[in-house]
Amino acid sequence: MTSKSALLVIDIQHDFLPGGSLAVNDGNKIIPGVLDLINTDKYNWDAVVFSQDWHPKDHISFASNHENIKPFEEIEFTSTKDSSIKLKQTVWPNHCIQHCHGANFPDELTTAYRNIHSPKTIIQKGTLHDRDYYSAFNDVWDDDQTGLSDFLKENKITDIYLVGLAYDYCVKFSAESSAKLGFNTTVIKSLSKPIHSDKINETDKFYKQNNVEIIDENDDKLKALLK
Ligand SMILES: [Zn+2]
Repeated sequence: MTSKSALLVIDIQHDFLPGGSLAVNDGNKIIPGVLDLINTDKYNWDAVVFSQDWHPKDHISFASNHENIKPFEEIEFTSTKDSSIKLKQTVWPNHCIQHCHGANFPDELTTAYRNIHSPKTIIQKGTLHDRDYYSAFNDVWDDDQTGLSDFLKENKITDIYLVGLAYDYCVKFSAESSAKLGFNTTVIKSLSKPIHSDKINETDKFYKQNNVEIIDENDDKLKALLK
């Protein structure tokens, strides 16, 4: 089987960039490299996907929707699949509210998306109010599917490369889902930034344990995708 490669650009939205409500340090610094990589005149991508965190105002992951809870505290969530399953999860400042500026992509990314000549799609996640989503494939309970897996299968994708924000949350859990679904999965670490830079070794270990290869943007694997 010939390999077919897709690029997943995870959550590069105003609220995750400096000045946003849930800003990732230096998140903006990856943008030039990402713009270079999504140029389909330069790279042979068989598909390109942008994921977009897209929450209703009453989303469960917002601290403001829980009494006496502050952002970055952990509270117990109950599985939407099985109410006996509970999990402690971080709650966040309000972010990426549907149709608000913070949920938008920076203009240069929107323009670059328009110029992609390969199959492409924008996958919205976080849309159901009663559960959180980190992976671009599914919610944390693996209950609601976003449609990403179907899109990749329709385009016969075998290999997935991830960039975006944040390295230790949505990029990480999207990569985990991708590898579990059987895609050869690679994260481009130099084009991703973490929320917790002090825990980077732990995060790298998680990727490796989940069969995700870590490379940087100068890796030969990417050179092989040049036109
Ligand atoms: Zn979110």
